[in-house]
Amino acid sequence: MTDRSLDLGQRIASTCPVCGPAQLRVLPFRYVFHDRFLYGVRCESCSLVFVHPQPTREEIRSFYTEEYFVQCSESCGAHGRHAYMEEVAQSGTERPRAAARLDRVVLQQLGRRGRLLEVGCGPGFLLDEFRKLGWQVLGLEISPFAVQFAREHLGLSVELGDIEPERFPGAQADAVFLGDVLEHLPEPVGALRTVRHWLSPGGVAIIAVPSTLNLLSARLGLIGYGMRRRFKTLRIPPYHLFEYTPSTLPRVIRAAGLRPVWLRQSAVPLGKMGLRGSPLENAGKVTLQLMAHASAHLLNRGGDRLLAAAIRPLDETLAGTPDA
Ligand SMILES: [Zn+2]
Repeated sequence: MTDRSLDLGQRIASTCPVCGPAQLRVLPFRYVFHDRFLYGVRCESCSLVFVHPQPTREEIRSFYTEEYFVQCSESCGAHGRHAYMEEVAQSGTERPRAAARLDRVVLQQLGRRGRLLEVGCGPGFLLDEFRKLGWQVLGLEISPFAVQFAREHLGLSVELGDIEPERFPGAQADAVFLGDVLEHLPEPVGALRTVRHWLSPGGVAIIAVPSTLNLLSARLGLIGYGMRRRFKTLRIPPYHLFEYTPSTLPRVIRAAGLRPVWLRQSAVPLGKMGLRGSPLENAGKVTLQLMAHASAHLLNRGGDRLLAAAIRPLDETLAGTPDA
């Protein structure tokens, strides 16, 4: 397999989801997955960071079995210290607060509640909170386990499947929420075009993503690996196919014909950090995470979480983008 032997810093001619044909630069991190290396690369034109080559569709689908939600191990499970289902069971007042915050962001842009679609709603806990706030809710989810849970335990209307335009009528949703979804999708621009198709003109997409590479600790870590001419090798499935930053996320949103209108940074609480390094690396990470909290809160910089709002323009001819 030719991609086994990419060198750190090497330039390769390939394709960027935003720019099309582009030069990509190999970064000092890679995944070992199914006996091959998948490298972190950065587009030299738009700076978007993603995994290259990407896992196959079948491999991506295989990530989100029941084990993803109920286990927590090196080879399986959502990020964080506990399994996804355990984490949500323990989250107490956190989830209603998260839903209320997202609700405020949508209301700021839209001025009213209406029909809300959550793409990648998982077992539906957050969607349930949106329903309590007065939204008419609908979910879309790729995991059969999660869909069954949402329907049977929470009585939610959730479709099983991929992000395809035909799945829902166009121009029907007033708000679409994608929470920690975009980084898992192999074609983020196409997915957001479909989201735009589902949104009514003037409707709002709310997108939450991790932004690990925006973190000072992550940047210093990569510089360190680069200087030692070494790769940081991650032995977990490549759940995150894209790593967004405050500059690249709006580019991806614009490429899909949506208009970014708001972006806020925050930092993952210390108790929820994924600490997979050596004790020294972890101590450094915790210290820098405290700084990231202050910086994100006070300056809207250096956070490792991004929350963006984007509008489907009322006049799409002015936006100059073809329909999905
Ligand atoms: Zn690019």
